Amino acid sequence: MSIRHHLTDPLLMAYAAGELPEAFNLVVATHVSLCDECRARLASFEAVGGAMLETEDVAAMSEDSLALCMDRISGLSQATARRPLKRAGILPAPLADYVGGGIGKVKWRNLGMGVKQAILPTGKDASARLLYIPGGQAVPDHGHRGLELTLVLQGAFRDETDRFGPGDIEIADEAMQHTPVAEEGEVCICLAATDAPLKFNAIIPRLAQPFLRI
Ligand SMILES: [Zn+2]
Repeated sequence: MSIRHHLTDPLLMAYAAGELPEAFNLVVATHVSLCDECRARLASFEAVGGAMLETEDVAAMSEDSLALCMDRISGLSQATARRPLKRAGILPAPLADYVGGGIGKVKWRNLGMGVKQAILPTGKDASARLLYIPGGQAVPDHGHRGLELTLVLQGAFRDETDRFGPGDIEIADEAMQHTPVAEEGEVCICLAATDAPLKFNAIIPRLAQPFLRI
């Protein structure tokens, strides 16, 4: 997989620090599972966090906390202790875990024009969805009220900025207005996360927005 569009350092740092909403965590974890470069950068941010922990002042825990913890660990069944994460078809492990299997397990809802989406269950502070866009089909021109991360899992799309293929991630913010179009030939499947509703310019998507929960 030749990935050309990567995560930014601030996003990787926030992920390492555990500060991202769940929907963004999912996109970051999914990209990192596909991308050696971002995984290496993430490891360096995690090392910084580890070094900070080692130099922090130590807060004492209650006297029996070690014994209690060891008791709980020995009580865990083998099954809970190691639950293998496997890639399921085009869905990398972190995502397959959310969907509960491969792409066949996704509960799609039609949005019209052949476009489908499935909203994934995450915390309320941001939302994550899978998008299914037939080749040649456009997602309506839209702007953003917050941050939007779009990770390509299959196929490719183009917008005003560039081409995005499998593993590529597009990071769009309030300043960005774009019309993504799926490349001819293959259905484009993406994982997208937003922390605020999108702003559509055309009247039809704007009217439909509350119903589609985009
Ligand atoms: Zn990357």
